[in-house]
Amino acid sequence: MVPFLLPPPWRGREQGNRPTRLSIPSPRLALLVLVLLGAGSATALNRERRADTSVKELTADVKKRLDTEYADLEALYKHLHTNPELSLQEARTAARMAKELKALGFEVTEKVGGHGVVGVLKNGKGPTVLVRTDMDALPVIERTGLPYASKVRVRDKNGQEVGVMHACGHDLHMTCWVGTARVLVSLKDRWSGTLVFLGQPAEEIGAGARAMLADGLFTRFPKPDSCLALHCDGNRPHGTIAYSEGLALANVDSVDIVVRGKGGHGSAPHTTIDPVVLAARIVLDLQTLVSRETNPTDPAVVTVGSIHGGTKHNIIPNEVKLQLTIRTTKDRVREDILKGIVRIANAAAEGARAPKPLVTQVPAEFTPALYNEPKLTRKTVALFREVLGEKAVLERPPIMGGEDFSRYGRAGVPVFLYFLGTIDPKRVEAAQREGADPLPSLHSDVYFPVPEPSIRTGVLTMSLAVLNLVGKE
Ligand SMILES: [Zn+2]
Ligand SMILES: [Zn+2]
Repeated sequence: MVPFLLPPPWRGREQGNRPTRLSIPSPRLALLVLVLLGAGSATALNRERRADTSVKELTADVKKRLDTEYADLEALYKHLHTNPELSLQEARTAARMAKELKALGFEVTEKVGGHGVVGVLKNGKGPTVLVRTDMDALPVIERTGLPYASKVRVRDKNGQEVGVMHACGHDLHMTCWVGTARVLVSLKDRWSGTLVFLGQPAEEIGAGARAMLADGLFTRFPKPDSCLALHCDGNRPHGTIAYSEGLALANVDSVDIVVRGKGGHGSAPHTTIDPVVLAARIVLDLQTLVSRETNPTDPAVVTVGSIHGGTKHNIIPNEVKLQLTIRTTKDRVREDILKGIVRIANAAAEGARAPKPLVTQVPAEFTPALYNEPKLTRKTVALFREVLGEKAVLERPPIMGGEDFSRYGRAGVPVFLYFLGTIDPKRVEAAQREGADPLPSLHSDVYFPVPEPSIRTGVLTMSLAVLNLVGKE
């Protein structure tokens, strides 16, 4: 068995850390190069030609299949968008994903690590490739004005009414995932190996991947040789891809601080220890962790995203609660910042005669940095460049977002996550003009991906990426 679409060795040679361009200008030059490299012989050239034809033919076949599926996939996308479910509550969404896979002949196991879905399709000998989608939505009231906008309202764990919206594009991820499964099943005679299609819950709270791994994802089901995922990009034009080789996304930590004081009347501050003033001091002091204590070449973020205390104008409260998100790319920097938070909070409290604040790192919300395995990244990206064109595939530095897809990598499997452009190119261009408003980011109540052609590019790239990894007898 030879790996399918595997480029001949000389095609993927490294230039520093950057992937090389795959295609060669003409068959004549190809022959010359092969002879010069001693690979010689018409056999190698034929293999080369066959590989090129295979990419073209396969691309055409995937596109043809997509044409038949597209209307149905867009309808599925709109259905999912209108009916979002929060993290840990993805029951109906998971059931729909399971149904889609069962209809295609996958062996499906539900309720893996909560609402997780695992579909396995064995198709002869060959590598095992895992394709992951996330399934959860966010507590956001949608304001896109789209005809298929979500109107869902639910109560959160505090009893507050919140909106629910697929503001991170996980509905589009699921659609591309279903589309990819359909394409791969329809091309079953063209590849061999095992597919593991993973519907993951609770990505937004960093809990789903950990729960699925703890529930035996890599022991109860075939352990993959590689894992693939895509994520919507709210800044890039549709039809394009962005990626990072190696480090791609940051370590994410959540920290809670309870700033303690001594309450009393607002008119008599001298009889109190005011936790509001103390909290304000801590918020400002924390900013020096990045600006004064971290090496400027090591990216880091300390954001206080929530501050709550007090009930009324003239009452000094007993405590103020802070919620922080910490982003780092190196484990060492992460440790230093987490320790620094405790030191700064304690020192500020001591200066204010206040009791020690309660600083709690929330381990359940930790997400490790995502590392795109270089070999898998280069192999997949080389194919994307060939299929979409050089200009449509952008390598970019890591970003400070987080994704628990990283956990499959930390569990010992090479992983690759890429970003799928989802925005009308005209909007992207307009947003780049001087003085223009930036585009809404992911998680914004007005972010939306343009379904066509985003879904098409998602299904095309993911299907070809899998075909590039599985085998052919
Ligand atoms: Zn998100
Ligand atoms: Zn997301």
